[in-house]
Amino acid sequence: MSANAPITMSVLSARDYKSDYKPVWCPGCGDFGVLNALTKALAALKLAPEQVALIAGIGCSSRIAAYTRVYGFHGVHGRVLPLATGLAVARPDLTVLAAGGDGDGFSIGGNHFIHACRRNANLTYLVMDNAVYGMTKGQASPTTECDWTGSELTPEGPHQAPFKPLEIALAAGAPFIARAFANDPNGLARLICEAIEFPGFAMIQILSPCITYRPEQMGYKKRVHEDFQPTDRLDQAWQALVADDGFTTGLLWRAERPAYRPHAADGDPASLINSFRVE
Ligand code: SF4
Repeated sequence: MSANAPITMSVLSARDYKSDYKPVWCPGCGDFGVLNALTKALAALKLAPEQVALIAGIGCSSRIAAYTRVYGFHGVHGRVLPLATGLAVARPDLTVLAAGGDGDGFSIGGNHFIHACRRNANLTYLVMDNAVYGMTKGQASPTTECDWTGSELTPEGPHQAPFKPLEIALAAGAPFIARAFANDPNGLARLICEAIEFPGFAMIQILSPCITYRPEQMGYKKRVHEDFQPTDRLDQAWQALVADDGFTTGLLWRAERPAYRPHAADGDPASLINSFRVE
């Protein structure tokens, strides 16, 4: 059987959603936990693999598309959200997932992140955040602490205030915002299920330790605490973020509003595609 051959079983386990490709992640990488959680969620929701598309960016974590037995697409750096948005709009019958890291999503793709939040296409965005560029050997990323001295390129620290994904998402209008920990696959799987079932843009920042370039992140287990209380009140969400130490997990914000649907897409994907044709 080829690595991503269709599955014909009627009841699928989490293992059935894993492809035959062996992950090349470093042993102990947090991304293994995300793969486990994602496949648990797909099995729990009983989603047919051929009805799920996983769009990934570039970086260690973006390899997850190859390791998941659903339709996958490995895009160019930072462009995961435009690709996923286009697919979600043109094929509303599919469950569309987007995945990538903090560099892919918040630096190269930072502009797309902001507009995906406000656009609110119906998709789930999983950001595996380890505050470092792992694939290119450990440079500071947008979410790196300003005093992190672990990179030879910034031996005295990047000296820049880190990007705050949840604050940016809330300010930009994302309707579903959560944070999770990669080494809690059951808790993460529950959040992924909720995000997939949410009718709009659902973003989960996943603290996913890079044990090779940020070995101190192995201490995350002692620091995470599940204290976000879901709210649809802006003042409460902002108060929670003001008090946040970066390790609060759970669903922060859920405020339903109509998901983005271009007029031409109503009911007929072909009419949407035709609407983009230049005569
Ligand atoms: Fe994971 Fe870091 Fe290794 Fe990349 S370099 S696979 S992020 S542990």
